[in-house]
Amino acid sequence: MIREPVYVTRSFAPPEEDFQKYVHHIFESSQFTNNGPLLQELNEELRAFLGVRYLQFVTNGTLAIQLALRELGITEGEVITTPFTYVATTSAILWEHCEPVYVDIDPQTLCMDPNLIEAAITPQTKAILPVHVFGIPCDVDAIADIGRRYGIPVIYDAAHAFGCVYRGKSLLDYGDVSTCSFHATKLFHTIEGGCIICQDEAVSSKIHLAKQFGHSYDDHFQLGINAKASEFQAAMGLCNLPYVPRIIADRKRSVELYDAELSGRLKRPEIPAGTEYNYAYYPVIFPSEEALLRANDALEAENIHFRRYFYPSLNTLPYLSRKPHCPISEDLSRRIACLPLYYGMRSEDIRRIAALICAEVERNI
Ligand SMILES: *Cc1c(COP(=O)(O)O)cnc(C)c1O
Repeated sequence: MIREPVYVTRSFAPPEEDFQKYVHHIFESSQFTNNGPLLQELNEELRAFLGVRYLQFVTNGTLAIQLALRELGITEGEVITTPFTYVATTSAILWEHCEPVYVDIDPQTLCMDPNLIEAAITPQTKAILPVHVFGIPCDVDAIADIGRRYGIPVIYDAAHAFGCVYRGKSLLDYGDVSTCSFHATKLFHTIEGGCIICQDEAVSSKIHLAKQFGHSYDDHFQLGINAKASEFQAAMGLCNLPYVPRIIADRKRSVELYDAELSGRLKRPEIPAGTEYNYAYYPVIFPSEEALLRANDALEAENIHFRRYFYPSLNTLPYLSRKPHCPISEDLSRRIACLPLYYGMRSEDIRRIAALICAEVERNI
């Protein structure tokens, strides 16, 4: 029997007719971009869905972080961040001429360890930029407390957190600013896209201007860049948003099946109490890097592809000027992989993957 390959993720596709209806409107109006009606509608729907006050849609999640840093006035100095995340968290800091200062992670949640933050603060510290990695909430109280005591803003890279609710409100509603990504591989997507959620109206207005070259008609208010999204991206978002509860429910089904089939053979990160999780990823922690590589070989032989999220630990990137040691992140990043997880994943594939992994793990006890 020839089986289709299984990849770590697969973009959600709405019914094609839904998208075509929007395309028809776009062609009729011939407004393709520049804060068009669909983008305004999506912006408002996202704001309502998340229950947040100020939300600025932008064209991707990387520019979201860069604009957040800029419009909080952070154009130099040190930004405290986590080594265990996608490279965009660090590259956004570097691109804005700031220096990432890495604080190691908590081995249970895989998020920045708040107990190590204060030791990393210097007179040059301009912001704390943690990540709710895999949608797992950071210790938001401890981090908010440190930010307040030192007068340092907290920016969350919440790229994985769309749909997570923590203690009764969206996880994107924590921090001075939160950013999200709506890239095609994310749980909710707009092909390419992202947003910035602010608590402060003034910051939100500055971002609104900055994302469209800093001007309105002939009035030039500030330096800007182009971070606008098109009507086609907005159309995809409007098609996908109503499916979010169904997407999360379906992922939950897959995660529960993985949990049952793996029956505790591999360690999993801990999700803090009070979280309504979005099931965005299924990270597993192998006992050793060798075990991970062997499991990878066994799956590859069956045309199943997991991914090492996130490897290498970012504090070891070759282009950094300072490479502090982060022992927990360096160790875990060698042993963590995300198993395939996407909307509509077949139970049969989950059972097959789990069986292959169990066989590998057992063989090596
Ligand atoms: C995807 C991602 C980003 C970047 O988002 P893009 O929309 O692809 O630019 C940033 N941070 C994290 C943690 C991500 O996973």
